[in-house]
Amino acid sequence: MILNRPHAAARAARFFTEKFPGTAMYAVKANPSPDLIRILWAEGVTHYDVASIGEVRMVREVLPEAELCFMHPVKTKSAIREAYQQHGVRTFSLDTMEELAKVVEATDSAQDLRLLVRMRVSSEHSELSLASKFGVDLADAKPLLQATRQHCDALGICFHVGSQAMTPFAYVQALERVRAAIAEAAVTVDIIDVGGGFPSIYPDLDPPAMEDYFAQIHRHFEAMPISYSAELWAEPGRALCAEYSSLIVKVEKRRGDELYINDGAYGALFDAAHVAWRFPVVALEDDLTQPLAEFSFYGPTCDDADFMKGPFMLPEDIQAGDYIEIGMLGAYGAAMATRFNGFGATLGFIVEDEPMASLYRGDRPDPRESDNVVSLR
Ligand SMILES: *Cc1c(COP(=O)(O)O)cnc(C)c1O
Repeated sequence: MILNRPHAAARAARFFTEKFPGTAMYAVKANPSPDLIRILWAEGVTHYDVASIGEVRMVREVLPEAELCFMHPVKTKSAIREAYQQHGVRTFSLDTMEELAKVVEATDSAQDLRLLVRMRVSSEHSELSLASKFGVDLADAKPLLQATRQHCDALGICFHVGSQAMTPFAYVQALERVRAAIAEAAVTVDIIDVGGGFPSIYPDLDPPAMEDYFAQIHRHFEAMPISYSAELWAEPGRALCAEYSSLIVKVEKRRGDELYINDGAYGALFDAAHVAWRFPVVALEDDLTQPLAEFSFYGPTCDDADFMKGPFMLPEDIQAGDYIEIGMLGAYGAAMATRFNGFGATLGFIVEDEPMASLYRGDRPDPRESDNVVSLR
């Protein structure tokens, strides 16, 4: 059972539209729910980072007037053509000469393109790396930037510092590399896109205030050797939707400190299993006096890999038949679920209570002064 909190997603969207010193587009892959996308739109999120023709079609159908940016650096020609001709997409990212040629050909050398060259940057400050798969190296950026400049109306540079960047310095470091690339290539740049990676809060992952990220990014953007009218963009995924959803699971069986629950690696808990992400949990019971103990989870499928190490802190007397709420699952939670082994059918409900943690409520102690522990309600 998924609990959705429209007010929490709306609050995150307002935070970005009001405080980010540029255009914050939503990275749809974090949670492609049409309900969520409508909430973000209503709060002023006008740009959407889409990565596949499926996402292009879906967002276009939900939001006919949204600005769609096709930010996957490897696309098929047919996807580029359909996006350009049928869905009004003008913004594309690329990281090779081959991809540039594809975009030029599939759009019949269109004159109204905004092309963003994706640069490889470090993921060292982030919990999930996005450093190895995409992005042109600084050493190879000059010819690509110069060639791309010939084929676009607006030239941009984008990057992704990795997901859940735990310090604003990740962006500062990446922007330094962008600055070097611009200086080397001596091209006019119209858009700097700092990508995603903005954090949310999880147990043991309590980031600095989001305002610190925005301030550092703004300061370094302002000092860039770019045109006076250049735009600053970002592509937050996680930060806009992590607080949107939580999951209610049932304990089907207990074996020592292992709980067999009815969702898992093939459901909404992919990250808990595959990258050992620790989501906050609370037992849904009235007796809050029980001491907590460490538990791990098994999901419902027959696969040994359907295992979530945790540790998840729950009352030590928890047993079969009890229910647990797993929080902060709006990003990369529901979006990952499969129907493997016949499991995975989940009902969604709208609730009005607060998410287990929030970066946007204004009541969070400054983590630089706290002991780095997430408080659970
Ligand atoms: C995944 C992704 C995002 C969103 O990343 P978050 O860490 O969720 O903010 C943004 N841009 C691109 C290109 C991505 O691949």
